[in-house]
Amino acid sequence: SEKLVEIRNLQTHYFTEDGVVKAVDGVDLYINRGETLGVVGESGCGKSVTSLSIMRLIPNPPGKIVGGEILFEGEDLLKKSEAEMRKIRGNEISMIFQEPMTSLNPVYTIGDQIAEAIELHQGLSHKEAIEKAIEMLRLVGIPLPEQRVKEYPHQLSGGMRQRVMIAMALSCNPKLLIADEPTTALDVTIQAQILELMKKLKKELGMAIMLITHDLGVVAEMCERVVVMYAGKVVEEADAVALFQNPLHPYTEGLLKSIPRLDQEVEKLHVIEGAVPNPLNLPEGCRFHPRCPVATDRCRAEQPTLQQVAPGRKVACFLAEERLMKGVTA
Ligand code: SF4
Ligand code: MG
Repeated sequence: SEKLVEIRNLQTHYFTEDGVVKAVDGVDLYINRGETLGVVGESGCGKSVTSLSIMRLIPNPPGKIVGGEILFEGEDLLKKSEAEMRKIRGNEISMIFQEPMTSLNPVYTIGDQIAEAIELHQGLSHKEAIEKAIEMLRLVGIPLPEQRVKEYPHQLSGGMRQRVMIAMALSCNPKLLIADEPTTALDVTIQAQILELMKKLKKELGMAIMLITHDLGVVAEMCERVVVMYAGKVVEEADAVALFQNPLHPYTEGLLKSIPRLDQEVEKLHVIEGAVPNPLNLPEGCRFHPRCPVATDRCRAEQPTLQQVAPGRKVACFLAEERLMKGVTA
C-alpha cells in the first residue's frame, strides 16, 4: 500500500551543557495510509522525539533536527515554513499525548477548545463549529454532548478528558494521528475502552495512526506493523504478527518476554537486565551489547546497520539471519 509518511535518516539532536544528545540518530521508517504503526521502546529511546520531529515541535534550543527528510505525501516537512506547518498541524496531522490535562486549557470550555481548532482549519462560524464539536463528542462516546461542551476540563474524568482530546484531534479529519502513550495514565478498564474507541474510529475515518508505546500488549491489540527503537535507532521493523511469532532482535525478544501473561507466574517474568545507555556516553559497537545475552566480540567493536532480512522485515543485528533461520521464539 501507499506510503503516507516516509522518514529517511532523521537526526534530531539536543545540545546540552554536558554535550550533544543524539536523541534520534539516523531513523528510517514509514507509515502506510490507513495503517496503525506501533513505535516501541523504553523511555529515552527516541520514539517521542521522532514524533515531535514529524510535527516540527522540537523545542529549539536545546533541540534541533540536524539531518534527514520527513516526507508527508511526498513533500518534505523539514522544508516547510512555520506558517505552512501551522496549516498541517491539527489538520493533516494531529497528536494526542499521555496526560490530556496538560494539553487542555483549564480556563476554556470543552466546546470552545474543540471549536477553536475547527474554526481555524475549516473556516466555519463559531456556532457551526460548536455543532461540529457536539457531533465529535458524540462520535467519541461522550454522553450528553450538548451539556458537556459547556463544561471545563476539570469537570471530566481522566478517561473522558482523553476522549475529548481524541475528539479534538480528529475534528479536522487528519490523515495521520500520532498517539504518544495515549492510555498510559489511565486505569486498565478505561485504557481498554480508549484503545477500542481508537480502533473503531480508525476504521470509520480511515486515518493512519502512529502509536507510540512502551507496552507491547497495546501493540498486539492495535497495530499492523511495528518499529522497535533502541538508543536513538530503529533496531527492528516487522509486521506485528511476524514480530510476535519470531522476534529477531535480542532486544525485541527481551521486550516480548517482559509482557506479563496470565499463564505465567509473576516471579518468572523476564525483565531485560541492565539500563538504557547514557545518551552522552553510548557504548561502542552495537548499542545493545552491554545488555545482550548473545553478544559476541564483533558486537563490541562494530555497529550493525538496519538490514532487510525478509519482505517487510528489517533488523539491526549481526545474528538476525541466523535467528531468522532458526526461528527464535519468545
Ligand atoms: Fe546482540 Fe550483537 Fe545483535 Fe547487538 S548485534 S543485538 S549485541 S547479537
Ligand atoms: Mg515518551
